[in-house]
Amino acid sequence: MLVLSVADVVSYVEQSFPQSLAEEWDNVGLQVGSTCLPCRTVMTCLTTTEAAVDYAAEVGVDLIISHHPLIFTPLKAITAQQPIGRTIGKLLTHQISLYVVHTNVDKAKGGLNDWLAETLHLLDAEILETQEEEGIGYGRIGRLASKMTLVSLAKNVAKALGIEAVRYAGDQGKPIEKAAVCSGSGSHLWPLALDLGADVLITGDVKYHTAIDVVNTSLALIDAGHYGTEAIFSSRVAVFLENAAKKQAWPLRVIAYQEETDPLAAVWKGV
Ligand SMILES: [Zn+2]
Repeated sequence: MLVLSVADVVSYVEQSFPQSLAEEWDNVGLQVGSTCLPCRTVMTCLTTTEAAVDYAAEVGVDLIISHHPLIFTPLKAITAQQPIGRTIGKLLTHQISLYVVHTNVDKAKGGLNDWLAETLHLLDAEILETQEEEGIGYGRIGRLASKMTLVSLAKNVAKALGIEAVRYAGDQGKPIEKAAVCSGSGSHLWPLALDLGADVLITGDVKYHTAIDVVNTSLALIDAGHYGTEAIFSSRVAVFLENAAKKQAWPLRVIAYQEETDPLAAVWKGV
């Protein structure tokens, strides 16, 4: 094969992460571009920001595969006055197609929640919230290789995910053996994690009142941030595509966008 098309790459992605797994409210699949365009270079990123598209244009990307939908709520206009309009304009100008895998990659076997469980070294990880269809669902639950305190685990989580700080709710010395994880915003799954005997739920976007509710139970929480629990998406999808390219001798260059950061930064008093 001399040149791949966008269709070749997205149909491969769809074999592992079918669009049919996505929630009804979600918006996945090809959002900008055309499946007929050639695809020599693909770039993965968590969120398709204008900066990500500028970078993609600079390095000659043909296809971006991102986790968060660029187009989610219906647009009334596409103009240079709005960041989304500029981003779509740049994608079209540079003939870069955009393909989104969101809740389908969250739920899929071998998807984002499995990557998160692996990164956090969970053993015997199973699905936290099983769906009607077997083998798919949000979150994972498993055990740690060795028992440790909540605060030690919180430190390990920060290290494993490469983030500056995590927040936790619960007694810092609480022994943790069984842990549940959910990428992105998964704190609503805490009653399920508790029922399944987890000692902690590791997720992002934890609200104050959720933390209050959880500290009154035997469960603890670690909030590693929405970005913190999902940033592995880019590198893991890049590896997935690199393996595909190797296996099928595809002439495909794969780039994981490295410039992405958490839009929420932290400062420490007195530092
Ligand atoms: Zn997300």
